[in-house]
Amino acid sequence: MDKKIVYTREEWLAESVRRFGEDVNNWRFICPSCGYIARVKEWRDLDAHNSTAISCIGRYTNPPSKQTIFSKTGGPCNYAGYGLFKLNPIKVVTKEDDGSEHDSFAFDWAYEETKEKNNG
Ligand SMILES: [Zn+2]
Repeated sequence: MDKKIVYTREEWLAESVRRFGEDVNNWRFICPSCGYIARVKEWRDLDAHNSTAISCIGRYTNPPSKQTIFSKTGGPCNYAGYGLFKLNPIKVVTKEDDGSEHDSFAFDWAYEETKEKNNG
């Protein structure tokens, strides 16, 4: 498996702001299982804050998505980043206090390219 990209929590937050702006609701992340691109607002609206950029929003929709890991159908699916399959490509390390870490979905890499194209 590819090596994970490592960010400190501060770097990860700064990169999110740089890519998507100050409004957290508009930050966009890609599910590594199905490819669904979710905005943070979608996790918040589903009361799934703790799974933001970690588990796919399909787990929290009503009814939950029946699409399973690796279905690659565009999702959303029921992928859980805390589960057995560690697909999330970014590791976020908290340097202060306990040095805890978690894995994150990738940023919506294409979003910035689209934005630049539209501005240019
Ligand atoms: Zn998914």
